[in-house]
Amino acid sequence: MPIRQLSETMINQIAAGEVIERPASVVKELVENALDAGASRVEIVTSGGGLNLIRVTDDGFGIPEPELALAIARHCTSKLVEDINDIRSLGFRGEALPSIGSVSRLSIRSRTASGDSAAEIGIEGGRVLPVRPAASNRGTTVEVRDLFFATPARLKFMKGERAESSATSDVVKRIAIAFPSVRFTLAGTDRSTLELPATDDSPEGSLRRVAQVMGAEFPDNSIPIDAMREGVHLTGHVSIPSFTRANALQQYAYVNGRPVRDKLIAGAIRGAFADVLPRDRHAVTVLFLSLDPAIVDVNVHPAKADVRFRDPGLVRGLIVGAIRQALADAGIRSATTGAAGMMAAFRPGAASYGHGGPANGHLSYDAAYRASGSTGFDPSRSPQRPLDMQFEGADFVRARNGDFDEPDQAAFDAGSLASADARASQDMPAETLLGAVLGAARAQVHENYIVAQTSDSLIIVDQHAAHERLVYEALKNALHSRPVPSQMLLLPEIIDLPEEDAERLAMHSETLARFGLGIERFGPGAVAVRETPSMLGETNVQQLVRDLADEIADNDTVETLKERLDKIAATMACHGSVRSGRLLKAEEMNALLRQMEATPGSGTCNHGRPTYIELKLADIERLFGRR
Ligand code: ADP
Ligand code: MG
Repeated sequence: MPIRQLSETMINQIAAGEVIERPASVVKELVENALDAGASRVEIVTSGGGLNLIRVTDDGFGIPEPELALAIARHCTSKLVEDINDIRSLGFRGEALPSIGSVSRLSIRSRTASGDSAAEIGIEGGRVLPVRPAASNRGTTVEVRDLFFATPARLKFMKGERAESSATSDVVKRIAIAFPSVRFTLAGTDRSTLELPATDDSPEGSLRRVAQVMGAEFPDNSIPIDAMREGVHLTGHVSIPSFTRANALQQYAYVNGRPVRDKLIAGAIRGAFADVLPRDRHAVTVLFLSLDPAIVDVNVHPAKADVRFRDPGLVRGLIVGAIRQALADAGIRSATTGAAGMMAAFRPGAASYGHGGPANGHLSYDAAYRASGSTGFDPSRSPQRPLDMQFEGADFVRARNGDFDEPDQAAFDAGSLASADARASQDMPAETLLGAVLGAARAQVHENYIVAQTSDSLIIVDQHAAHERLVYEALKNALHSRPVPSQMLLLPEIIDLPEEDAERLAMHSETLARFGLGIERFGPGAVAVRETPSMLGETNVQQLVRDLADEIADNDTVETLKERLDKIAATMACHGSVRSGRLLKAEEMNALLRQMEATPGSGTCNHGRPTYIELKLADIERLFGRR
């Protein structure tokens, strides 16, 4: 066959194959056009999941009648100004409308501010219909019917109506977050109506829009992010560690106002939360990056949802650093959503109390009240120097207190909390401890919960969760100072593993050795463990090694080395912590409380759950109807 030029319609249909994947992609393109036209209201209507009808109406500046034909012609745009390196609008390729028009029946009705009347143009499967007069207000209405009628192959790949309409909702929500001062409505026979009233462009307005989209509980369970590095500005909100989702769908990211789905940003978020979330939980995040358009490429794919940064390391570092800092500053806040249920559980049976029990609005058990906006634990409020605990963390604490010099290998026997050096708390009358943040330990109940008393509250500590966190922090700090002491096993433990796992572990043997885990290859499909970290004491080496293999397999490709080490530390900490069921003496309990006070981040365990809760005396009195 001779070489021939493709027809215009064919070219547009080929382009549509990339740009218009499904109805939601049409909605995205049309809404972007409305926003580029300066709209303050955008109304979207769909039916049949968007396959029958998509109609987007805006009150933007409209298209002058003589330009209607250009709007649906390929490579015609009013947006791209001279320089592909300086893109400030959402659209710039001039191919959305002709692509959509080549696979559907599309009409555009528009009126400009100066135009006396509206005009309309149509295009059906690539065939352009003549411009004719029409009636409408200022702005533009684009209607797309029978999407993919001209490309039945694509039509076959559509999921059900439900799936398509929910993909459309997602697109609208995603973009609406970036434009809080625009009112959006999404309605149709195939969905329940979504209404997002305009807020404003201030940080508060932006957060209100986020709450409209993500749910009213998000603002109370999130912390603000605002950081700048080398001209790149990061703002937004991230959820606190106890407010998570089973998938990453609720992570919204924007680059210069453009919604993006970017691996680098997703990886940075994962990295930033690696310390405080288990592998299968995901933070809820809304992050806006703004930077010079010249140092980010948005022209990576026709759908414009991918970006490339000139300096990916800078962006990643900024995100990880800013989120970690914000989490550290927010200290020990736990989710407020749990609090209501918790208080309900505390409330006495309402039926037997004439006045319906305590007034709930005022009940606050939540650590959030104490920490709100501040840094959580304030070690300086602790009435005494933190105790010399038996594990490495003590060195860190001492280092901060300026006496890091005493080598203390013997004290490293972390396995036994029972041998805690508890001098200080013995010397200290319990009454003086009442002023400490976590107070004086009074009892241990159900072999895992330490009940403590401060001057004005009751504290309940989950000893396992708390100790796990302390061990983790200690391990992390050890990692950055010197190798973790290890103990030789009398007989090396041989562990049979899938060959890939054995290989992975061997590749990380140096790192593991720094953690005190001496591991080496032992023929095909096996490793030998000769040394384990002393602080773990008696431990199930088989299980630990398998967990580590899983950890490495899961995180190798995306995590930086440090995050990987911290994750390994978290896994180790989990194995080495005081299990629930362990009886503690009063000095041991107090030692644990003091250690928690002295350790940043100890308000949540490695899995993001709170390590302690606080019930104010005032609230207890309300519970009993004394107030
Ligand atoms: P692009 O957005 O990349 O410019 P499109 O094919 O999406 O390409 O749109 C082509 C042109 O049509 C735009 O550049 C704009 O001038 C005009 N246009 C499309 N939709 C609207 C709208 N809702 N309001 C005003 N002008 C519009
Ligand atoms: Mg466009």
